[in-house]
Formats: sequence, C-alpha cells, structure tokens
Amino acid sequence: MITIGLDLGYGDTKVISENEQRYIFPSRWAKAESRNWGIGGNIPVISVDDGDSFVFGKDAIGSGVRQPQEDSRLSDPNSYPLLAAALWVTNLGKENTEVTLASGTQLGSFEKEVEKARNLLEGKTIKIKSSAGEEQKFTISKLVMRPQGVGAAIYLLNRGLIRKQYGNAVIIDIGFRTTDVLTINMENMEPIVELSFTIQAGVGDVVSGISKVIAKETGFIVPADVARDAISSKVVYSQKEVGGPIVSQPLLDALAQKVIDDMRENMREDLDRITALIPVGGGSILVGQKLDELAPGHMVKVPVEDMQFTNVLGYRIAASQ
Ligand code: ADP
Ligand code: MG
Repeated sequence: MITIGLDLGYGDTKVISENEQRYIFPSRWAKAESRNWGIGGNIPVISVDDGDSFVFGKDAIGSGVRQPQEDSRLSDPNSYPLLAAALWVTNLGKENTEVTLASGTQLGSFEKEVEKARNLLEGKTIKIKSSAGEEQKFTISKLVMRPQGVGAAIYLLNRGLIRKQYGNAVIIDIGFRTTDVLTINMENMEPIVELSFTIQAGVGDVVSGISKVIAKETGFIVPADVARDAISSKVVYSQKEVGGPIVSQPLLDALAQKVIDDMRENMREDLDRITALIPVGGGSILVGQKLDELAPGHMVKVPVEDMQFTNVLGYRIAASQ
C-alpha cells in the first residue's frame, strides 16, 4: 500500500508520493489527439477509464483548456483528469497499485465535499493509458481528507515549527485565486471556525495586472504562463523585454495590502492573540514577509522549498499517522 498526497489547487496541482518525491503541474487539461505521430512524443497524452485522450499541465494550451472552477476539489468532473494525471506522474501504477489518497478541501464546505469525494473515489480503480501504449492502474482503497490549512498545521507540528502553547496560530495560505486563513487555538490545536475565512485575492491578481501592463506596452495578450514568469524577472515577448520586478512590485504590494486589510477587518482585537503568524502557499514566497505588521515579531518561517507544498505534505503525514 502506498500513500499519495494530492493538493488540487486553483493554480497548481501538488503531488507527494513515496520517499516524499514531489511533482507539480498547472491545474489544467485539454482534450488531445490520441494519435502518436512519432515526432517528439515527449508530451504525455493520456486517457482515463478508456475516455478521451488529454494533455495536462503546461502542455494544455489553447481554447479548449479546462480547469476545475468549483470549491469541490475532488468531486468536480473537471478534477478527475487532473487526479488521473497526478497518479500518472508518480509512475507507481505499473501493477494494479493500492493507494491511500490523502487530500484536502476548504473548511467551509468540508463535510459535504468529503462525502461526495468518498462516494466517487473510495474503492474505485482508475485505469490510465498513454498514447504510447503504457498503462497504469490504481485502486483507491482509502481516502484521507483534511481541511486546507489543517494540512499545513499538521506539517508545521510534524516539523516542530509550531508547538502547544498559549495563543493562536494563524496560517495564511496565499494561493492563485484565493487566500485562505485558518486560525488554530494552540492550547488544544483545534481550528477556530469563526476566525477562519477566505479572502478573494491571490497571485492570479498580480498575473492579470502584469498582463494588462504588457498588453499596453506591446499590444499583445501574453499567455498566463508568460505573465506568471514575468513576476520575478523580465521576459522577452514580441521582441520586447517586458514585466519584471519593477512592474510587479506595486502589484505585489497591493496584494499584501489587501490581505492585511481583510485580516484586520475580520480578526479585529483577536489579532492581539496571535503568537504564530505563518504565511504559506506559493504566494507567500512573493509577499509573505510583508505580513509581519499583522503580528510583529511572531512570524514563523517555513523553508522556501516547502511553502507551496505545506498542505499536501500535511495531508500525507495525516494519512500515515
Ligand atoms: P494554489 O494552491 O491556489 O494552486 P499555490 O500556493 O500552489 O496556489 O501557488 C500560488 C502561486 O504562487 C503560483 O501560481 C505561482 O505563481 C506562485 N509561486 C509558486 N512558487 C513560487 C516561487 N518559487 N517563486 C515565485 N512564485 C511562486
Ligand atoms: Mg493552495
């Protein structure tokens, strides 16, 4: 029996398999020709349960691209190909492999979503084939689910980054489309639902902001992946250097400010009870430090390489405990 951790984000799908091997790809897929022309052949074209062939991740481009839009991360029909892709990349299904799938979903709709995901996936055998003729099969014998943020908390406890003490820990997960805030009472390690909420802001706002600037400069709409890369450094598009830190800085500042403002409004005097402030998620790599003013001196630093993986690492730990 193997345990695979899966975090199907709005932006990226994060996967942890045996030996904490990590995989990540953009959360999107598109139908594809199943014919193998014998050129290149490097792009994985797969099908699941003998359905239509599709490509996924950065290879999925063009007008037919699908991505799961709903909060229901595992039960959305548009998530199923991504789940199959996540299993496929682990390369562990050469025999019919039994899997414990460890994943998560938003706190607000947790019970409902867990039930839907269980009905859909528990006991199910998923058959994945590539156009190159390879086949992998996985049977999901068990589904372990935790709310988003709780996954991160389990990771933090496991690594000794937070421990039992007075006060509240606030995990701020800055994702692509949303920022999810989870408050935990560190005396009993229970989530405080009234102080947990979602802010409608994320790295995606910075990406669309950069796209607008580039469109003004070049007259072209650049692909989202290009705009995303243009946050950290300049990129060449249409013979022009565009984007980069000078363009992205004010947009990143605006994102951080929006998170700070919404935190203040939602938490009010409870801000004073924060004894651990923990920015996680890919967005925290970009703006995490700016959140210090919410609880000065109480920032807990997660290793940069784990930032985007905190939830999925925690889901997998939960399944192995
Ligand atoms: P979600 O869970 O919503 O899919 P993630 O937390 O995975 O979002 O990532 C949010 C965004 O953070 C990514 O879309 C990416 O643009 C950005 N990001 C991730 N890793 C890095 C990094 N190493 N440097 C800069 N930005 C990053
Ligand atoms: Mg996320």
